[in-house]
Amino acid sequence: MTESLYPNKQALHDALDIFRYAMRPFIVRCLNRVKGKNIEEAIKGKLGGRGKYFSDDLRRTGSAEESIDINDFPKLVDGYWNDIFSQEFWNDEIVKNMLWMIRDARNKAAHPSQSDLDIEDVRSRVTVIADLLGRINESDSKQAVERIRDRLSSPPPLRDTTTRPLTRFTEPASRPPQQDPPVPSAPSPSREKFYVYTDGSNSKIHKGPCYHYENRKPDPLPDNWWHGPYSSEAEAEAKAWDATQNRGRVTFAERCR
Ligand SMILES: [Zn+2]
Repeated sequence: MTESLYPNKQALHDALDIFRYAMRPFIVRCLNRVKGKNIEEAIKGKLGGRGKYFSDDLRRTGSAEESIDINDFPKLVDGYWNDIFSQEFWNDEIVKNMLWMIRDARNKAAHPSQSDLDIEDVRSRVTVIADLLGRINESDSKQAVERIRDRLSSPPPLRDTTTRPLTRFTEPASRPPQQDPPVPSAPSPSREKFYVYTDGSNSKIHKGPCYHYENRKPDPLPDNWWHGPYSSEAEAEAKAWDATQNRGRVTFAERCR
């Protein structure tokens, strides 16, 4: 498959497969409790225009479970939130947002593309998938997804870094002596903040307020992934190089806001 050319996309794809097969029986089990409706009516009633396809699939497969997909989950959970799912999810409405986010991830993974997906984006989405699997007590599936995430985050093998010159950007002088930049707990006069995201080999500097940082994974992960905020670009840059042990690459993230 050409997709293995794109390891991040493949990882997202694999995580979504696990998610799909864990969520389907959970949702059907829950919807069997809808009063006064059989499972087909219960599902079809909340799918809007897609209800027709569901009925077609149901006739073909004979299984409600196999006839719903990731696109349907948020509509069903939303549609039966008060009756059923609020109790399943401890009334935590963030679950609905998570399901929409996962649906969006599914669309990304399904689309043909000319390049791999952004590793940070995939990481955050895979983390949301794992979180949600935990919330439905699918701990095996959750762990499988976490393994996918951890593989994603392992630094790529070191390649001839000794012979390849580092691609440093726009910094004429050597960087300042290494010291951990102070965490600015004092109120910063500037609204501009900088964050550093690193996978151990490569670092990206994010300019805050940063969409990526704001939407970083809800699960605690090893601290070495996000650093900051820093009040100056220079501090962030120093940290970025430090995090790669001066062997990797430092770039600026795009589309931070
Ligand atoms: Zn960013």
